[in-house]
Amino acid sequence: MTVSAPFSALRILKEGLTGNTGWTRHWRDPAPKAAYDAIVIGGGGHGLATAYYLAKNHGLTNVAVLEKGHLGSGNIGRNTTIVRANYFLPGNSEFYSHSLKLWEGMEADLNYNVMHSQRGLINLFHSDGQRDAFVRRGNAMINQGDDAILLDRDGVRAILPYLDFDNTRFPIFGGLLHPRGGTARHDAVAWGYARGADRRGVDLIQNCEVTGIDIADGRVTGVQTTRGAIAAPKVAIVVAGRSSQVAAMAGLRLPIESHVLQAFVTEGLKPVINHVISFGMGHFYISQSDKGGLVFGGDIDFYPSYASRGNLPMIEHVMEAGMTLMPMIGRARVLRSWGGIMDMSPDGSPIIDKSPIDGLFLNCGWNYGGFKAVPASGYCLAHLMATGQPHPVAAGFRLDRFATGRGIIDEEGTGSQHNLH
Ligand SMILES: Cc1cc2nc3c(=O)[nH]c(=O)nc-3n(C[C@H](O)[C@H](O)[C@H](O)COP(=O)(O)OP(=O)(O)OC[C@H]3O[C@@H](n4cnc5c(N)ncnc54)[C@H](O)[C@@H]3O)c2cc1C
Repeated sequence: MTVSAPFSALRILKEGLTGNTGWTRHWRDPAPKAAYDAIVIGGGGHGLATAYYLAKNHGLTNVAVLEKGHLGSGNIGRNTTIVRANYFLPGNSEFYSHSLKLWEGMEADLNYNVMHSQRGLINLFHSDGQRDAFVRRGNAMINQGDDAILLDRDGVRAILPYLDFDNTRFPIFGGLLHPRGGTARHDAVAWGYARGADRRGVDLIQNCEVTGIDIADGRVTGVQTTRGAIAAPKVAIVVAGRSSQVAAMAGLRLPIESHVLQAFVTEGLKPVINHVISFGMGHFYISQSDKGGLVFGGDIDFYPSYASRGNLPMIEHVMEAGMTLMPMIGRARVLRSWGGIMDMSPDGSPIIDKSPIDGLFLNCGWNYGGFKAVPASGYCLAHLMATGQPHPVAAGFRLDRFATGRGIIDEEGTGSQHNLH
């Protein structure tokens, strides 16, 4: 197997001085083998991270990732790149805390620059009641070992002077600062995990759509694909917005609805927003990319759909929220908008679990927060596939909680409504 030499400052210098002729492909382009020890369906962030940790942590390298398009063509390359560990409820709290620690070691671990930037995340509050809720959240974050600082109105104004503090309807009372929160370059995360998995011997097979799941005597035996049948005793479905469709190939009906979420980017501007800001009275969040574009988004389109183009009413809603929060944004020109298909679960929390079919594993229900989960999700699914036991920080993400009602992790407190999480 040919693998490229590790990246280093010395190597960049050498390549720069010798015409950049020594760089090699990040990963191979192998033909699928007839059989593997494990198959991961889906070459997004979660699938690639799963393959990486199967190889790195558990020595399982006879593994294939099957991707119907190209690696990183799904939501991993479409999100607004926010990384945080500011969850309130047990179940989520320890999982996202673990994930943030993996983010903090990711670049050294993968030998890859994912541009992880801990620029701080500020969640704004606009009433006394919301302040109380954020105080509780901040205390939970600190108890979990993460960081949280409560800012009053002047504290926020000192950092974000351009916000509309005296908006008649949504005046800003203060904010909860999460200094370790921030952003990362989304597709670089996919590329980094892909390269890391490939270097350990994992086959990354693109343009290979799974069209059927083979089952015999209650056990998975492999998959049917557009590039032929591939056998494996372990198969993981890690396909985000397509989870229900792929699980249906195994005769499973998942408690997942697919909804479109849109995002927007403006023309490049000089540095103006140095944090991630989240508006507490509408679903609106914004940061500035290293290229200068303001990257922002809002809520899902509210009805189930597999169309990733998005609709105009939500665009209008997001623009209104942006103008309410920071009127100066009206001067910026929107360059592009796009959508991604979100796997919404009934309680807004994910599923990392075995399925009722032996050897078939599920990883889904990431709603619109699955980017920050990528490292821990892959880490924990790999643990489950290799050992047969859930990793302790993901033990709450059970499939049967939706059948029994026990162990529901409803962070938003909105009840069993996929579109409200
Ligand atoms: C607009 C937007 C903004 C977001 N903002 C954030 C954010 O700021 N922070 C955050 O934490 N999260 C965010 N998210 C959510 C996050 O991007 C997703 O939860 C996460 O990327 C989903 O996991 P994934 O990366 O594995 O998905 P994907 O990248 O979608 O990977 C799934 C892959 O499966 C493949 N696939 C599907 N069916 C098959 C098949 N039959 N055979 C083979 N392959 C198949 C797809 O082609 C795809 O590549 C956002 C999402 C969107 C759309």
